[in-house]
Amino acid sequence: MTPDTARIHDEIVRRNPAEPEFHQAVAEVLGSLEPVLARHAHLRELRLLERLCEPERQVMFRVVWTDDHGVPRLNRGYRVGFSSALGPYKGGLRFHPSVTLGTVKFLAFEQIFKNALTGLGLGAGKGGADFDPAGRSDGEVMRFCQAYMTELYRHIGPHTDIPAGDIGVGTRELGYLFGQYKRITNRFDAGTLTGKAHTIGGSHVRTEATGYGVTYFLEAMLATRGDTLDGKTAVLSGSGNVATHAAAKLHDLGATVLACSDSTGTLHDPSGLRLDVLHEIKTARRKLDAYPELVPHARFLPGTTPWDIPCDIAVPAATQNELDESDAIALTKNGLRALAEGANMPCTPAAIDVFRDAGIAFAPGKAANAGGVATSALEMRQNASRERWDFPTTDQHLATIMREIHDTCLTTADEHDRPGDYTAGANIAGFLTVADAMTTLGI
Ligand code: GLU
Repeated sequence: MTPDTARIHDEIVRRNPAEPEFHQAVAEVLGSLEPVLARHAHLRELRLLERLCEPERQVMFRVVWTDDHGVPRLNRGYRVGFSSALGPYKGGLRFHPSVTLGTVKFLAFEQIFKNALTGLGLGAGKGGADFDPAGRSDGEVMRFCQAYMTELYRHIGPHTDIPAGDIGVGTRELGYLFGQYKRITNRFDAGTLTGKAHTIGGSHVRTEATGYGVTYFLEAMLATRGDTLDGKTAVLSGSGNVATHAAAKLHDLGATVLACSDSTGTLHDPSGLRLDVLHEIKTARRKLDAYPELVPHARFLPGTTPWDIPCDIAVPAATQNELDESDAIALTKNGLRALAEGANMPCTPAAIDVFRDAGIAFAPGKAANAGGVATSALEMRQNASRERWDFPTTDQHLATIMREIHDTCLTTADEHDRPGDYTAGANIAGFLTVADAMTTLGI
């Protein structure tokens, strides 16, 4: 960072105490904007960086619901609208016990650049709650979602703020959330939430989109190096929506997926994960240690991460800061060629430095996992026009968008003397788009 950006960062840390993930996300962006600030002095005069790093609005609210024993339970809900310069706030909801305001702010901040890169007119937001869905019955999840929406509904709408899913929030939760929104408002405003089930206005490919998109991005990165996914080995972390669909598309494109993981350990199948078995386990909401019962040559390794398994391709798709410097060193030593972040900010800054120094193709989450929110925009488009696109048409749109994002990152990095640096490309391209809109809108 330059002394100027370091001063801005210090001020942000002071104004937002005890939010380390938010500080980390801001530092990463500020650090890569130097070539832009050197070139466009007027952006500093307009204090665009300071304005961009301050959320437009932040809502925190009490969520009370009753468990299956009739006992009242208490959680805290959040929704942060970070930037509406390019369109209505857009971003997912995360239900996980670790969620704090700082988590939601870091995710909403990342969403600014990600959504700008899609080119689809999306502002940025994020929300969630410290609710733990693990072990909760379907009725409990429904009552929690209803209680959460009973407050959230007043802050959202198809032209204001459009939530979707994230960790702990999938099609089921979005159905319950939308049901309550519709009950309270007396409107079937399908475009208020994305990631819905198909019967209530959801789009084909939205469920698969983040994982498929990550794979399309990897395909594009390898193509610039004259390579393909065919015959490669891949290792993923996580086993949720992003990991399972990235695994499926990697498999379609000829790669062998050796491992995935959950919060309790790593599943390693040296002959390639059986995606049908994985699907069966996930549908039954079971843990990955059930897999070796069905595929005896596979091993479940409790308490481990997948990063010491030799592979060509790595996709961290679990959560933030899950892959550190020592993991990056292990992957690099074992012959890693490319890594795409399926989760948001899963690699620590030190891990990213290792990949950069080793010349590994590295795709930051805000570019590589943008397929999810991009397909949300396609869902909004279908909701507004009352059209329904088929699966292949929607998938084709997604593939095109991912290639465009890839090319934007690469070209922008080149233009700013950071050849091959996808992180710099993503941050600079996203920033310039939002900065232009903010300047146009005036103060
Ligand atoms: N939570 C996803 C993300 O991190 C999707 C957001 C959306 O579809 O609005 O981008």
